[in-house]
Amino acid sequence: MFELTGKTAVVTGGSRGIGRAICLKLAGQGANIVLNYAGNAAAAEETRAACEALGVRALAVQGDVADPAACNALIDTAVETFGQVDILVCNAGITRDNLLMRMSDEEFQKVIDTNLKGTFHCMRAVIRPMMKKRRGRIISISSVVGLIGNAGQINYAASKAGVIGMTRSLAREVASRGITVNAVAPGFIRTDMTDVLGDAVKEGILRSIPLGKLGEAEDVANTVLFLASDEAAYITGQVLSVDGGMAM
Ligand code: NAP
Repeated sequence: MFELTGKTAVVTGGSRGIGRAICLKLAGQGANIVLNYAGNAAAAEETRAACEALGVRALAVQGDVADPAACNALIDTAVETFGQVDILVCNAGITRDNLLMRMSDEEFQKVIDTNLKGTFHCMRAVIRPMMKKRRGRIISISSVVGLIGNAGQINYAASKAGVIGMTRSLAREVASRGITVNAVAPGFIRTDMTDVLGDAVKEGILRSIPLGKLGEAEDVANTVLFLASDEAAYITGQVLSVDGGMAM
């Protein structure tokens, strides 16, 4: 089950956290990996080497997803190296939290540029090569915050709700070409992004999770693997929550 041998996956923000877990999960099922990262070359190289240790080929490509040219170059590199992109995972994301009354234009724009426009740039770059092959899987990482909101994250919630809207629209555009487009909405997952939260905030979050614990990056990676697999061929335009029950 979930066999990906001979397939190629591009994962944005693949150097750390959830993206790294996704790279390793897909590589473990036989996919060659092209992982994008913003600036942490050491972490990207660590993930790349760990993928190759699983017996596949892996490339690390630096590039800011907010830059459309960098996203085009990322997809071009994957196609030139492996001949195709079977799976695109739009995972790169950031937070710049603040209450609305204190949020600057820069904080709002930076999150939209990375999380929402970054996903748009990568979707647009990959769609022609996928349409030519008449197959593909596009999976974007949204968030529970895009579904139910969160105080102090108006920028992040807008970006992640936007990812869901784009996912459903693109799913309708390309369904006839054999391409599925889905989103995963994680709850609170233990990564560098959530490690910065204070203990009181973490305790408050824990109380809001019916399963009573934070999620692990691998919980999200398992869901991405399913959506990337042949077994999920009849699923498109969906948002799968991986949140311990937070958003039910
Ligand atoms: P993380 O540990 O902070 O890792 C972020 C990753 O994104 C890194 O690989 C980073 O690259 C990359 N990145 C950041 N800005 C980028 C840019 N402009 N261009 C290209 N790559 C960029 O984050 P995470 O917790 O794994 O989150 C991954 C995704 O899941 C994000 O979209 C996040 O919003 C979403 N999510 C996370 C949680 C959670 O609880 N952690 C919950 C819901 C959704 P460098 O290593 O080079 O910096």
